[in-house]
Amino acid sequence: MTLDPGNYECPTHHTDLTGLVEEALDNSLHVAYRRPLLGRKPAGPFQVIVTCPGTGGARPHPLTCTGKQAP
Ligand SMILES: [Zn+2]
Repeated sequence: MTLDPGNYECPTHHTDLTGLVEEALDNSLHVAYRRPLLGRKPAGPFQVIVTCPGTGGARPHPLTCTGKQAP
């Protein structure tokens, strides 16, 4: 699985969110696999919402990440 871009970062806190994005994609893929009739392929453009943990006194907040993935 290759992501484009390969890294995701919160623009506010400069926190690496790549692992969270991959996790969210894994979860959505599992959903897709359970519903093969939809014919969804685990590749192409995606949009996922992850939670940035924040830094210092900042609170966690949701962040939408978009990109493309190729098998
Ligand atoms: Zn953040």
